[in-house]
Amino acid sequence: VPTVAVVGRPNVGKSTLVNRMCDAGTVNGAIVRDEPGVTRDRVYQRATWGGRDFEMIDTGGLLFDDEADALFLEEIREQASLALSESCAAILVVDGREGPTRVDEEIGAFLRKWPRDLPVVVAVNKCEQVLTEAEGAAEFWRLGLGEPIACSGVHGNGVAEVLDALLPAIDGATRRDAPRAERAHVDVAILGRPNVGKSCLLNRFLGVQRSIVSSIPGTTRDAVDESVVVDGHLFKFVDTAGVRRKARVRDPTEEAMVGRSLRAVRRADLVLLVVDSTVEPTDQDAALAERIAADGRACVVLANKWDIKQDKTEKSTREVSKILREALAPVAWAEILFVSALTGQRCLKVYAAIERAVANHRKRVETAVLNEVVRDALLWQPPPASASKGAAKIYFVSQPSVSPPTIVFMCNNPTLFTNNYKRYLERKIRESLPFEGTPIRLVFRGKR
Ligand code: GDP
Repeated sequence: VPTVAVVGRPNVGKSTLVNRMCDAGTVNGAIVRDEPGVTRDRVYQRATWGGRDFEMIDTGGLLFDDEADALFLEEIREQASLALSESCAAILVVDGREGPTRVDEEIGAFLRKWPRDLPVVVAVNKCEQVLTEAEGAAEFWRLGLGEPIACSGVHGNGVAEVLDALLPAIDGATRRDAPRAERAHVDVAILGRPNVGKSCLLNRFLGVQRSIVSSIPGTTRDAVDESVVVDGHLFKFVDTAGVRRKARVRDPTEEAMVGRSLRAVRRADLVLLVVDSTVEPTDQDAALAERIAADGRACVVLANKWDIKQDKTEKSTREVSKILREALAPVAWAEILFVSALTGQRCLKVYAAIERAVANHRKRVETAVLNEVVRDALLWQPPPASASKGAAKIYFVSQPSVSPPTIVFMCNNPTLFTNNYKRYLERKIRESLPFEGTPIRLVFRGKR
């Protein structure tokens, strides 16, 4: 469901206006108020307008100067940033009787600078008297956010106009979401052997934008998720307590280590597999790679401590890449980034790599395209035949699900397809279709 964030400084009448918007429909049937739910510390309200369902998040007051002490202020701004990062539009509520204040202008500048395209509707509240409406609202043109709309949360005038102005953004978001029920944010787990630098890296990642890093307490005291907004996108690092907690056992067995990380991997869309680039990859690294692939998670490999490496020519980088790809064969499709938690080298690039991998993890390929790619592969190398069961035949290929992309082959007899041939098909599919960063599942189904 598309979400609209409501922002503005305190006392401009945000909640009166939001309640009025959710009540409006009880009169003309256009808007319906659902149970307000408290999710992730923010209040969401379900609303319907013009036949569209959406949610409104009240961000609480946005403060921008000495009106609150610095710590509190930062927290408020973090909350608003998190709300904006998952919204398709924002309503900036201002006070028409007071006229534009310095804080309104600061909030306006903050919204204009939002890194992603974010339509903003300026609702000039407290404009009860028709005569003062036009001139009162006009002053807010100077916020640089388009035409201000005069309205009154108390009387209800202008509320329909504000809602109408939101519809294009809501429709746009609905269209984007339609093909896949995907979440707006990405859940990321950090996985790796002890001492490869996981917690140092986590600090780097969360330090990217100090002012809008936030902690969201998880369900148990142990599991704490920490989030960061980068370029308008929300990344949630799951179970960071597990990363920060030092291993209790000196040299944990592979089994114990894999077991501990299991839960975080299950909760994640993508796993950052951290390895120490200064030593040879070990069986433990391989076991973790195996886990990620088996659970169908997207992955980016981080070869950490690259600052220590003396020989950093392109050739040696390629060699290390090759060694890693072989050692981490189950995630050979993952992008490898050479990073340093110590110097921060390439740590910022990690976010873009996560985005690319997750986009592929959620990708749905059109049936026609998929069948063409497979037909081509069949021509290059026909499926194996068996003396007793005859030739293998593929009738039709489709991708019924995403995360990870799952490709179903309707065929005459699934047992005819050897693992070798399945690997060949996967290779051909990956050559033609961009599935870097994600495992893909191939399923063979017989006619009945
Ligand atoms: P974790 O057990 O995987 O969480 O590892 P830590 O983050 O605690 O790091 C283990 C050790 O490696 C610490 O002494 C860090 O200072 C060091 N370390 C981590 N990342 C780097 C890096 O990029 N370069 C260098 N030179 N040292 C690092």
